[in-house]
Amino acid sequence: MTPLTRRDVLFGLGGGIAGTLLSPLPWTVLDDVAIWTQHRRALPIPRDGETSVRPVACTSCPAGCSLRVRSVAGRPVFVSGEASHPLGGGACPFGLTLHHLAHHPLRLTTPVRLDAHGTPTRVALGAAVAAAAGALRAASRSGRAVLVLDQRPGRAVSRAFRELLAAVPYGLYATPDGEGATLQVLSGAAGGPLGIDLEHTRTLLSFGAPVLEGWGRPGRMLALRDRLRIVQLDAWRSPTAGLADEWLAIRPGSEGPLALALANVLVGEGLARTPAAELRDLLASFPPERVEPLAGLPASAIETLARSLAAQGPTVAIGGGDPGGGPLPLDAERAIAWLDVVLGSVGRAGGLVARGSLPDDGTAPLAPETSLAEVPDGDVRLLVIAAGDSGRALPWSALGRKLAPQALVVSLSPFRCGLTARADLVVPSPAPLEGHEEILPTADACVMSYAVTAPLLPPCAESVEPTRFLAELARAAGLGVPSDGTHAERLQRRAAAIFASHRGRVLVRGDEGFREEAPADAGAFWQALLEGGCWVDDSRAARAVAAPALPSPAAVAGWLRAEPARSDLPLVSFAARGAAGGTPPSPILTKLYQETALRPSVATIALHPQTARERGLVDGREMRVVSAAGRLDARLRCDPTLPPGRAAMAAGPDPAALHEQDAAPARGALALGVVEPDLTWRGTRVAITEA
Ligand code: SF4
Repeated sequence: MTPLTRRDVLFGLGGGIAGTLLSPLPWTVLDDVAIWTQHRRALPIPRDGETSVRPVACTSCPAGCSLRVRSVAGRPVFVSGEASHPLGGGACPFGLTLHHLAHHPLRLTTPVRLDAHGTPTRVALGAAVAAAAGALRAASRSGRAVLVLDQRPGRAVSRAFRELLAAVPYGLYATPDGEGATLQVLSGAAGGPLGIDLEHTRTLLSFGAPVLEGWGRPGRMLALRDRLRIVQLDAWRSPTAGLADEWLAIRPGSEGPLALALANVLVGEGLARTPAAELRDLLASFPPERVEPLAGLPASAIETLARSLAAQGPTVAIGGGDPGGGPLPLDAERAIAWLDVVLGSVGRAGGLVARGSLPDDGTAPLAPETSLAEVPDGDVRLLVIAAGDSGRALPWSALGRKLAPQALVVSLSPFRCGLTARADLVVPSPAPLEGHEEILPTADACVMSYAVTAPLLPPCAESVEPTRFLAELARAAGLGVPSDGTHAERLQRRAAAIFASHRGRVLVRGDEGFREEAPADAGAFWQALLEGGCWVDDSRAARAVAAPALPSPAAVAGWLRAEPARSDLPLVSFAARGAAGGTPPSPILTKLYQETALRPSVATIALHPQTARERGLVDGREMRVVSAAGRLDARLRCDPTLPPGRAAMAAGPDPAALHEQDAAPARGALALGVVEPDLTWRGTRVAITEA
């Protein structure tokens, strides 16, 4: 087992709160925050007044952690995790500083137009809607696409987007691949959603997923950690690798062949069910000895691991990638999914189990959901970036390549950072704590659930609920999509449909904790949700074993091809969930990460000391880092825990997020990412020389 250090624990917690308490706080942090707060009301300054405590949820990423917010005179001053929440208590530092975000320097409070440098100019909502409607009509005339990118699918507002797109001649509704990618492969084959019965899983085999840092619902992982064996296959000593029971350092890009080699051992030694001939033939090409140089792991280690997965089952293997490193290629996810099938983990307790869907609450036709990678390049005349954050990075070039000439990009985010910094128009939605939000289950959850967080703060006068923007856009473009009420009314209708389904149980939040209760009617159910309660669906019976598609022949051939020796290095890109998406971390956390070693900064590039020595590079010096997509300067950080022969760099948080005048395109690994047609950027290679 990898020795656990104090730094790992801080790292694993995201560093923020624990780091503040346990580390000497650098004076520069206090100094900068003091200067900064002289210029704007950036930190909540409590007035005298009545103290109240309200339940809310964090929506900076899909985990939707439950929080308690203490307010003085209506102003939030302190946030803590809702420890006894039935869906898992606890939160990461980004959630515990959520109340800073309404005052963030990059907060937008009116619709704006951004110029090529990202400088905002205020525009009227009517003008923004007219511009979007003009682009929508131009798209219809020219046969181009109207694309909505939704990074938090499944919400009532997602449904509103899909209704609008169904009324457009060429409307596309796309979602990026996320941490549930392996489950998606298996769910597609199983004919319905699957989750992980983690409460009965014995071994979790993670192919680079940050399962102990920001994955699923952190409270659930925390509660299960003691009885769950975690094996991390990772290209660097990530926070999860440091905290796992076992970390095997693998070569970047070897996830697919390694999954097949593990399946090869299991089948070859009779430790798994005999697969169909087609898979057997495929596995025969991936014996451990052949995968040894690909994965950078001795064949004996692959064999030992495979045997332990069978002996210490039920085992679940998952991919999904890192929030800053992006998704794994689909073929690697298919290989991991097949490892689950070979392990007999699909459709069994402790494995991958069927999960219900939310009861339907509408009849209007919906545009189908598609993967962003499937949207043709150069085809999008109007792009709408929906409000709602995945907390994961997406390089601008992954979206930019989809745009047609003269395309208009409209973002509905309340913050001028991430992808929004590249939009033409921003119509800000309410900031965290200012609007009604839905909390849906995370990708791994084994039962469907539903919760709502009610506004704690009044929205600023010119922020616009996305459903209102859509209704005005439909009206201006003459689409004839009936307006289906306000955002809150849509949520209420969804809650009524859940109540009418008579499924599951309702857990009401009271002074003594949560208790099961049967609300008298849909109105009482809605009220229970607003007061911090939640609905949890019934468990589903196991579903038949899924047979996903095999990895493509091209991918298999690529895995088996000997790689020529190269002087450039594979780049390992990483970030914490919540620190690389479209919601900036609290300025205090950003500053803390900039001024301490708790989390590697985007301004440094790491190499193993031996790799640096071989290249004549000196620790601490400024380096010029060049990829096929860009170049930047970064300070060399020699890191003996990083395996030789690779470079590692953070993709967030972006230090520019602290200063309005610095809202430039993100630096760090995202600026270097070479985005492939499947929208992965894990194959990026970099050349490093002294600047
Ligand atoms: S950022 Fe995500 S993991 Fe962190 S508190 Fe918010 S919802 Fe939870």
